[in-house]
Amino acid sequence: MYPFDFTAVSTVPEALAAGGRGGRYIAGGTTLVDLMRNSVEQPDLVVDISALPLRDVVVTPGGGLRIGALATMSDVAADPRVRVTYPVIAEALELSASAQLRNMATIGGNIMQRTRCAYFRDVTAPCNKREPGSGCAALEGYNRTHAILGTSDACVATHPSDLAVALAALEARVHLLGPDGKRRIPFSGFLLEPGTTPDREHAVHQGELIVAVEIPLLPRPLRSGYLKVRDRQSYEFALTSAAVALHVRGGRIHTAKVAAGGVGTVPWKLTAVENHLIGKAPSEALWADAAALASAGASPLEHNGFKVELLERTVERQLRVVGGTR
Ligand code: SF4
Repeated sequence: MYPFDFTAVSTVPEALAAGGRGGRYIAGGTTLVDLMRNSVEQPDLVVDISALPLRDVVVTPGGGLRIGALATMSDVAADPRVRVTYPVIAEALELSASAQLRNMATIGGNIMQRTRCAYFRDVTAPCNKREPGSGCAALEGYNRTHAILGTSDACVATHPSDLAVALAALEARVHLLGPDGKRRIPFSGFLLEPGTTPDREHAVHQGELIVAVEIPLLPRPLRSGYLKVRDRQSYEFALTSAAVALHVRGGRIHTAKVAAGGVGTVPWKLTAVENHLIGKAPSEALWADAAALASAGASPLEHNGFKVELLERTVERQLRVVGGTR
């Protein structure tokens, strides 16, 4: 470890002031403390925001859900409104991390968590995300768990959050507060593909505070769920995953929201799959045809070619489960 300043704040204005001085926010601490321990991150000022009143889950005037950024993963997963209206969120949360971590980790921290690429966390390895311009050890290294979609010559790391996949599928919005006031970012623009600047991972400005995530009202009844495929059944990140939400009316799919995890440098919205489903009657053939579109544009690396077929199978299975034809 190295010396750093620490302050705990109890109001949002205090947090913003500390953030404006270059402070790094910490709440549950389940990511940042690890990164500081192994010297991947070395903030000069750490700002404890865990006492801020940002834990509520409320129904919005528009009928959606607004989840406070400091609500814990376990509290949100257990919330009856989440479980009834958006089970895909509860399932994504419950399939994440461990019970102990879910009791500490917050919603805001979850979507801001950094990649689990082993080279990123090994400060002796070249890594453009940790040290811009140093290279990418994963490109020629062991890349079985890395991304096949949204990659660049600079970085091929996946985004590790399961919750973010569900939020991408449901087209959530992230609410921020900063020195210039409020901002609201669609989830599609919240996390950034690496391009030539993999060290830029999100659209949050220095000093801004995530205050909530809002899930819009979607037509009901809405069936949804999350499937996570991984090397072991608990405490493991996804090789592939699929978040699916479907509204069927009059025997036809009226609304389809689909995203994949474990395969993209950001949660991967499957727009082509969604478009293929709209207006059609649920059937085994439809799920297979739609899922075949999931891997369009994939660029496998030396060790992760298996993810192409696994992604398609994951999406097909979850469409079948949520669509009710299994
Ligand atoms: Fe770093 Fe990205 Fe390469 Fe991993 S994949 S070593 S995070 S640049």
